Amino acid sequence: MNCEIIAVGSELLTPWRQDTNSLFLTEELNAVGVSVRFKTIVGDRRADLAGAVRTALGRTDILIVMGGLGPTEDDLSREAVAEALKMGLRRDGSLVAALSARFAARRMTMTDNNLKQADVIEGAVVLPNPNGTAPGQWMDTSFEGFRKLVMLIPGPPGECRPLFEEQCLPRLREVIPVRHIARRTLKATMIGESSADALLAPIYSTYPDVETTILAGNCEIQLQLACARATPEAAQARVDELAGKLEEALDEYVFASQGETLEQIVLYYLELKQATLAVAESCTGGMLGERITSVSGSSRSFLGGALVYSDALKTAFCGVALELLAEHGAVSTPVAEAMADGIRRHTGATFGMGITGIAGPGGGSDEKPVGRVYIALSDAYGTECSENNFRGDRQKVRQWATQKALDMLRRRMILYR
Ligand code: AMP
Ligand code: MG
Repeated sequence: MNCEIIAVGSELLTPWRQDTNSLFLTEELNAVGVSVRFKTIVGDRRADLAGAVRTALGRTDILIVMGGLGPTEDDLSREAVAEALKMGLRRDGSLVAALSARFAARRMTMTDNNLKQADVIEGAVVLPNPNGTAPGQWMDTSFEGFRKLVMLIPGPPGECRPLFEEQCLPRLREVIPVRHIARRTLKATMIGESSADALLAPIYSTYPDVETTILAGNCEIQLQLACARATPEAAQARVDELAGKLEEALDEYVFASQGETLEQIVLYYLELKQATLAVAESCTGGMLGERITSVSGSSRSFLGGALVYSDALKTAFCGVALELLAEHGAVSTPVAEAMADGIRRHTGATFGMGITGIAGPGGGSDEKPVGRVYIALSDAYGTECSENNFRGDRQKVRQWATQKALDMLRRRMILYR
């Protein structure tokens, strides 16, 4: 079953207010196997709203209209939904009485505009709202010959949430088939989004029942898989089957199969191998150490590092020979290797890493342009260095450098096995 959520309110079309209710609703709907296919935000104009309701009813099974149920002139959801469904509104006597009682209890006079909150669409069930004045409404109805579930719920989050949980969910569970959604997130790095999709699309397109989303950002690619089935086990098995094939296709580019971060994976392997790591960072200024230490428990494998920005500190803390710096320059393969090797020897770590590069925007040359970063990895068996040309601003170059460094270490450890 699929659903559309319409959030009603002109304030939600300004830069100052956001529709946050739909995030909560989506989570609750997904948990019972309903996917949200569309979210629409409409201002407080009756014709726009009626049009949006008609469009929604034409394309989804379940419609949730949220907001616009208050007493004021611009609260038009009841009228618009009734219009779209070509149904009338009736003023409910017991709701009028309840409204009057609510005002009386607070010793307030009830203005007439409040009465429209007692208007109920023909055939709708009234959903009590103990947290506010406007009740919700539930309809099991039809639109152009198709069965539709329509809910009207109030906009204030303190009313929307309890009303949805207490009044709508139990009714939904009764009428919709039980579905369970399983999810899985794979992550890959050092492969472009389009290259990844070229590899993966032929595979995931043969699983139309598993929703596959590819997201690129933060120097990585995320593959989000979701599938609905009658039992959690069946849903999980289907997602896992596709995940397995995608993982195989992406081969060593995949670093996480359960949504883990790259630094978590690196620490996992370090611990598995009872290995330790120390780093010497120049252009990344400690960012690599920061990423690693952001994971709790990193102290079991990460010894620490040196932030060796100047030539003098590269020599003092990593033992980089002055001649090496003079001959090749601080941004070079020999210096990166000497940094990695030096920090490993000084600390007694299993692995040493050295990063030196030109983060920009200034400081580049024809020979060594902005974005050139040398990253070296050293262990008892030898030292390797990669020459990289990262693109983007200063921050991006530095982020890519830490990503590549972590990935080099990950790859070294999976090769060792
Ligand atoms: P209404 O039911 O349209 O009178 O909405 C009353 C108030 O509820 C609005 O002014 C918002 O502050 C809040 N609200 C309405 N819709 C949403 C939404 N989709 N997400 C978060 N808050 C909302
Ligand atoms: Mg409103």
